[in-house]
Amino acid sequence: MADIEDLAALATEWSRSIRAPASLQEVVTSGNCVGCGICEGIVGPEFIRMEVQPPKQRMRPVFLKEAEPKLLQKALAACPGAKVGSLPGWAPATGMEAFVGKAISIQRGYATDPETRLKAAAAGGLTTLGSHLLDTGKVAFVLHVKACALYSDVSAQGSKLSFTAAEVFEGKGSRYGPTAPLKSLEDALSRNQPFALVAKPCDINAMRNCALVDPRVDQLCKYMMTISCGTFADNECVDKFLSKNKVDPSEVEEFRWRGHGCPGACPYLRTKDGREVSKDYVDFWFENGQELGPLTYQWRCKMCADFIGYAADVVVMDCWPGGLPQRRHEITEDRKHEWDGWVLIIARTERGQELVDSAKEAGKLTLGPADPREILETQPHQARRAASQLVRRAAHAARGAPLPELDAGAALRVARWALDANFVDEVMKTGPPAPSGDAAGLREVLPQTLAEALLQMPERHIAYHLDNFKGTAKRLARGDAVEPCCLGKL
Ligand SMILES: Cc1cc2nc3c(=O)[nH]c(=O)nc-3n(C[C@H](O)[C@H](O)[C@H](O)COP(=O)(O)OP(=O)(O)OC[C@H]3O[C@@H](n4cnc5c(N)ncnc54)[C@H](O)[C@@H]3O)c2cc1C
Ligand code: SF4
Ligand code: SF4
Repeated sequence: MADIEDLAALATEWSRSIRAPASLQEVVTSGNCVGCGICEGIVGPEFIRMEVQPPKQRMRPVFLKEAEPKLLQKALAACPGAKVGSLPGWAPATGMEAFVGKAISIQRGYATDPETRLKAAAAGGLTTLGSHLLDTGKVAFVLHVKACALYSDVSAQGSKLSFTAAEVFEGKGSRYGPTAPLKSLEDALSRNQPFALVAKPCDINAMRNCALVDPRVDQLCKYMMTISCGTFADNECVDKFLSKNKVDPSEVEEFRWRGHGCPGACPYLRTKDGREVSKDYVDFWFENGQELGPLTYQWRCKMCADFIGYAADVVVMDCWPGGLPQRRHEITEDRKHEWDGWVLIIARTERGQELVDSAKEAGKLTLGPADPREILETQPHQARRAASQLVRRAAHAARGAPLPELDAGAALRVARWALDANFVDEVMKTGPPAPSGDAAGLREVLPQTLAEALLQMPERHIAYHLDNFKGTAKRLARGDAVEPCCLGKL
């Protein structure tokens, strides 16, 4: 049997050989756009403008005017649909290490302020870290989004620059729908003041990519903080929720994604005449399809190689055992405390560690130690995405379609996830067993290099990988990765 290091090197090389999108338009049409908005932020709204696009109401760039090639090149270099990176100088030795990512510390806890803990998405970790940076004068503002808003509220479709703790608090919550946090990048940079970014892992990737082509990013963006991100639903799903409940967007006084308990209702709305409508978080994600038609998602999330913020300074995530809360009306005595709000916080860099320590020492975060295994136990859906990522990519590439280039660190983590037998065994325990499949089946669908690497794995993994390949291929065949690109007046 070949050495695991050789296999990982083979798979890394294969991942890096896949063609990346050659233009921003191709990023969109190949299903690789995440809707981050950094292209608008770099090229300017008179050329590229982020807009909600029918039929799924995704946030996508509209190409209005031909822009300077140099600016378009810069935007493509920053685009997370064209490139995914890693923290430099760190290489995981096992699948589990690759899954958790670089971690100087892992802690569990909550915002000490009861209102923040109650009203934020989970336990107010990110809101507290953002406002602590403002209180201590480490940054002049926080670039993030207003999570709890209807998508038809144009002012909440993009970045929110918060200069006070009260403004940071307004951004709390988890928006399970599109928003473009980086469309105001130039506004943030041109202020020439230190700031912090709070956004999804793919948005953080955009910012790290941008730092390689714009020195102002590293000079001014002092902290990059993120979440573990499972994906978000298309805005069309919100339309269905409103119409099922006979609410017109113009009637909505308050709309919330999570909060007021952990996780709180998801979503919750109150109309101007005082009607309240909400769903339980568990029903939103898992039962929604029964009454509203299935939730739909952008394809890029299926190809995501950075769902736990591998390039961020700090990551804050939920920590329910098995990855799911109980329904509010079914919560058992032994899990009641979860509703109070708890998060796991990983500090990945020295800078991130200093920030978490400082918020803890100031009494703003109440934290205790946690074990890396808790990340696997509380994020099993992410672990399944990790172990299947290599064959998902193979299924996508088999159609000749481009994928974001992975830098060496990102390609290595994808290889480790698939090729560390202990890690794959752990992951397989978290889901149903795969139907049977054999080596011939895998050889038939995978490029030779990749098939040979995966066939060195224990026999019990072959059906797992083949099943994941087939599932991805099926979704691709029904057109999930095909998206129109809006050329505006071009
Ligand atoms: C799309 C999405 C998917 C998620 N998937 C998972 C998951 O699989 N596993 C898991 O453990 N946790 C997941 N979370 C994270 C979880 O919901 C909590 O947000 C996280 O635990 C932080 O909680 P908090 O109380 O510290 O956040 P808060 O203190 O409420 O702060 C949240 C911050 O996130 C920002 N934000 C919210 N939504 C978005 C968005 N769509 N884009 C950019 N920035 C945003 C807000 O501006 C705010 O600053 C997801 C969140 C989102 C938005
Ligand atoms: S991923 Fe971001 S930068 Fe790339 S095309 Fe989409 S919105 Fe623009
Ligand atoms: S799953 Fe990945 S690509 Fe999708 S929104 Fe989350 S971080 Fe971005």
